[in-house]
Amino acid sequence: MHSRVVEHFIAGKSVPSADGRTFETRDPHDGSLLGTVARGSAADAEAAIGAARQAFDEGPWPGMSAKERAKILHAVADAVDAHRDELAELETRDGGKPIHGTSHAEIPRVAHNLRFFADYVAMVPNEAYPDGALLSYTLYPPAGVVSAISPWNAPLMLASWKVAPALAFGNTCVLKPAPQTPLTAARFAEIAVGAGLPEGVLNVVHGYGGDEVAGPLTTDPRVDRITFTGSSVTGAKIMAAAAPNMTPVSAELGGKSANVVFDDADLDVAVPLAVRAVYLGSGQVCLAGTRLLVQRGIHDEFVARFVEEAGKLVVGDPKNHDTFMGPLIEQAHLDKVHGYVELARTEGGSVVTGGERLTGGEHARGHYYPPTVITGLTNADRTAREEIFGPVQTVIPFDTEDEALAIANDTPYGLAGMLSTTNLDRAHRMAARWKAGMVWINCFFERDLRLPFGGEGISGKGREGGQYSREFFTEPRAVILRLR
Ligand code: NAD
Repeated sequence: MHSRVVEHFIAGKSVPSADGRTFETRDPHDGSLLGTVARGSAADAEAAIGAARQAFDEGPWPGMSAKERAKILHAVADAVDAHRDELAELETRDGGKPIHGTSHAEIPRVAHNLRFFADYVAMVPNEAYPDGALLSYTLYPPAGVVSAISPWNAPLMLASWKVAPALAFGNTCVLKPAPQTPLTAARFAEIAVGAGLPEGVLNVVHGYGGDEVAGPLTTDPRVDRITFTGSSVTGAKIMAAAAPNMTPVSAELGGKSANVVFDDADLDVAVPLAVRAVYLGSGQVCLAGTRLLVQRGIHDEFVARFVEEAGKLVVGDPKNHDTFMGPLIEQAHLDKVHGYVELARTEGGSVVTGGERLTGGEHARGHYYPPTVITGLTNADRTAREEIFGPVQTVIPFDTEDEALAIANDTPYGLAGMLSTTNLDRAHRMAARWKAGMVWINCFFERDLRLPFGGEGISGKGREGGQYSREFFTEPRAVILRLR
């Protein structure tokens, strides 16, 4: 793949940064240069917000019927499908995500997000309460200009989870992808406008955090909503930045989710599920089941089978179709992940498998780390409490349902929970008491986009999906009409 020049996309046109600055994006597999990217400053963000503001205030987008917007969003989804191979390759090169996942799950999910919200807005029921001479009903006008700030771990899929509902409900948008993975967002905006999205409705700026291009996206009074996915630390900064204008923030943040396995579970199902739940995306997944809690009677057998299963995972060049784990995103992140494994050793943990960087052969020039399993920690140890965001599984035994739940809930996070058991009464009891935005029972990563997505505690603020996205991306208005 040739190195490319990536510019901001503002009012339907590719433009360089106002001050001409750039940064590089590199392939985490071998360090090769993939692109020279416009490094935005406040001036570029302000230009993009201005374009989005104009497209909102002067239309036609917000004034179109839901059906008209849906038609265009379906055309954008079709165009994403038509460019699937190109977008999947860009994602794989830029972020190190295995090509099987980008081409069969992530990019198709971008198209699905667009179609889902296009149809949802056109079909969602509305409320009207006729009561004698009074007719009361609710309008859901779009909120206005939406800042969408996204992370690097599933770049276009997560960006589309914001952009699709924002646009479907009639807003205009400025998207800022993570600087580690700018390639697909830039291309997506071009594809969308090519498919008929009016200019200025979707704008993309590239660059870094609060003191650079991202600053005005969170502080400019012309912004009406901020939807953010990223770390809990950044989420808190964004909420603080948005507070003076009281701009609503939807924040989907970090996680340290427990995966609880009871001794009545079908281990032929539970073992591969647990392996996938922590190592998918090389562990760079907010929802990952990083704290494995196993009932004591099956602990040793489970760990042995888990290690055997993890040993079968192919770790290598993400461009190969049989690769399950690609490289970590960048050197600094690899250092952080390995730092936690070193910390675990000082905390008294035993590294059962993995625990050292992969440096030979095809791993030599990339940021590779193997599936790692650590036992012997308690839930009080930092390695078992803090988000590592890498392929590191800690395993802690438990005796009773109450103890499992107490450990699962003993965390400042609250994103997801997983549970393997054949006792569905217990599963239901646990789900009702679990401090988490999502609980998966005998499955993992399954999603119905009508359900709320988000987290408790420092895992997030607010929910998105279905009606929850409508709440956030519109300004619900009560209308009370007295009839004669
Ligand atoms: P990050 O918080 O470092 O960056 C996320 C985005 O915010 C990037 O685009 C970044 O440039 C921007 N940013 C940084 N500082 C900013 C500031 N002060 N103001 C505005 N924008 C700013 O996160 P990351 O390292 O890119 O992503 C990994 C994190 O994201 C993990 O914690 C992971 O759990 C979380 N995540 C959460 C979900 C979810 O749905 N809950 C999904 C994926 C990832």
